[in-house]
Amino acid sequence: MNVVATFTVTFTQILNEQGDLIQPLPDFAKDAETLIMLYRQMHMLRALDARAVIMQRTGKMGTYPSALGQEAVSIGMGAAMHKDDIFVPYYRDQGAMMQRGVTPTEILNYWGGDERASNFITPEAKEDFPICICISTQLLHAAGVAYALSLRGEKRAVVTGCGDGGTSEGDFYESINFAGAQRLPIVYVINNNQWAISVPRNKQTSTQTLAQKAFAGGFEGIQVDGNDVIAVRHVVEQALEKARKGGGPTLIEAITYRLCDHTTVDDASRYVDKPDLDKAWELEPFKRFYAYLEKEGLWDAQKEKALQEECSARMAEAAQACIHTAPAQPTDIIDYMYETLPASYQYQRDELSTAKLPEGH
Ligand SMILES: [Mg+2]
Repeated sequence: MNVVATFTVTFTQILNEQGDLIQPLPDFAKDAETLIMLYRQMHMLRALDARAVIMQRTGKMGTYPSALGQEAVSIGMGAAMHKDDIFVPYYRDQGAMMQRGVTPTEILNYWGGDERASNFITPEAKEDFPICICISTQLLHAAGVAYALSLRGEKRAVVTGCGDGGTSEGDFYESINFAGAQRLPIVYVINNNQWAISVPRNKQTSTQTLAQKAFAGGFEGIQVDGNDVIAVRHVVEQALEKARKGGGPTLIEAITYRLCDHTTVDDASRYVDKPDLDKAWELEPFKRFYAYLEKEGLWDAQKEKALQEECSARMAEAAQACIHTAPAQPTDIIDYMYETLPASYQYQRDELSTAKLPEGH
């Protein structure tokens, strides 16, 4: 019997749990301003999530999926993208969306059920896709976009994301198969936060890594410490550079931990063991980044306090803007699905167009 194929999965970490460098810094991370910007964006995301959960708990907004503990995945990924790349997000990618210029108010309005919020105000995100809630369907859209870029010969790339559970879906495999076969300029970033709602990683799939699923598509799959924002940005940047040069897709499994409920309609305390959660808090992304910045003389407790206050005030303002946004029309739930409305929906639209909005909406 001969071995006919072997595959290797690498793991990249630059900043360890104590905030020590265990590998040389990539060039971008030698710039103090860039590092502080990354830290700032992580704080903005944490503050947005905190505000969104408050809004949901006080009945001012619908369901919301916080990214608590996973900020380095979204922010590292968003920072690695060029402006003219195209982002096809999943529902926990709000950090990268903000980096692309989508406003916190738009994100809050979206989770309040306002379809208009996906028509991003910023011209820079005009080609980006709206939040996708259906599990992994966005990966097919992303492959389609990458195929279009490839046909046009454009030196741009697509970044798309999903969770660990998303890699068990048929759409995931169809997308990576097509991307591999066509050598598409696409980077898949998997937020492996160890939970698919209440299903733990070890019951979700029996593969040793999620990264190795890329081999089924015929391309490279790698792991990165998803709590290390420098490492995430670095590996996504490298993968994007490869994609733009015609080197084909890459799948990046970012290993992190969901420190929050799956969404605001979940109660993770019913199924997450407290010692596991406590251990995960030790590894979360702010602690090590703060330690590193402090050691470098770039950060201190006073700056931390001022930044937290600024982010919190910014998100309180965004929440007020969301609450005071003029109501959406009931017909919006139909109007953005089809360019030409099928006749079978017309009577429903007619009914909705005369519907009276409930008080306070
Ligand atoms: Mg998950």
